[in-house]
Amino acid sequence: MRMKGKTVLITGAASGIGFAMAKRFIEEGAVIAACDYNEEALERAKKEMGDFYHLYKMDVSKHDEVKEMVKKIISDLDKIDVLVNNAGVTKDNFLVKMPENDFDAVIAVNLKGVYNITKAVVPYMMERKSGVILNASSVVGIYGNIGQTNYVASKAGVIGMTKTWAKEFARYGIRVNAIAPGFIKTPMTSKVPQKVIDHMNSKTPLGRMGEAIEIANAYLFLASDEASYITGQVLGVDGGLVV
Ligand code: NAP
Repeated sequence: MRMKGKTVLITGAASGIGFAMAKRFIEEGAVIAACDYNEEALERAKKEMGDFYHLYKMDVSKHDEVKEMVKKIISDLDKIDVLVNNAGVTKDNFLVKMPENDFDAVIAVNLKGVYNITKAVVPYMMERKSGVILNASSVVGIYGNIGQTNYVASKAGVIGMTKTWAKEFARYGIRVNAIAPGFIKTPMTSKVPQKVIDHMNSKTPLGRMGEAIEIANAYLFLASDEASYITGQVLGVDGGLVV
């Protein structure tokens, strides 16, 4: 039971990697504050997860809403030991065709959302002089990707915030790391054409897409005390896609 007694706030916890992570963390003894803006998906997930999965409808891009919801989580569950900034969206297009709204919308969730919720949670961690913050980046945040100006900017920004916060919060006993997944089977990638999947698989040394549980296991390691001397890092979990 690597997470016994730990309360873990996961954003985007109703689907994909967030869902797999919540399930895995519960198996290891954690209580989950499951945050998502998809209320129906949260309710569906709850049926599978049981009593340790507490639902909080939250849009991470809304600064004040996030602050209020974090207060409620603290009042319900007493503390937040681990924050996983996992919620994310894509709105892909070539730069010349990318509407301003689509640029802003992706930054609002993937970058500003991470700022909003971390700013709301971290004072409680500072008070307790302990905590772990994990951020969802992506291999494309390091290496770039055609058609993803908005998404890449957000995921590169997340790496910058991860390193900054690792330095800023270390004196409070708070570790901050990011995960950079490769190409993972989730609802986010479910509409990618088979042709593109085949191409990505051919470029990946392990020769296949990753499973959500494989990313969840990496988050679990970084969240646990086994990673007590790791901070400010970006862990690639990508089947060797970028080596
Ligand atoms: P996913 O299946 O689409 O799950 C993301 C969850 O976040 C969904 O439940 C989504 O709700 C929710 N969400 C979106 N916007 C939100 C908001 N404003 N406030 C609260 N919740 C919100 O995606 P995933 O593939 O598991 O991705 C999880 C994270 O890993 C993302 O940050 C993603 O960028 C990153 N990542 C994924 C891959 C991959 O290949 N899948 C690769 C690299 C990085 P809706 O379903 O209603 O949109």
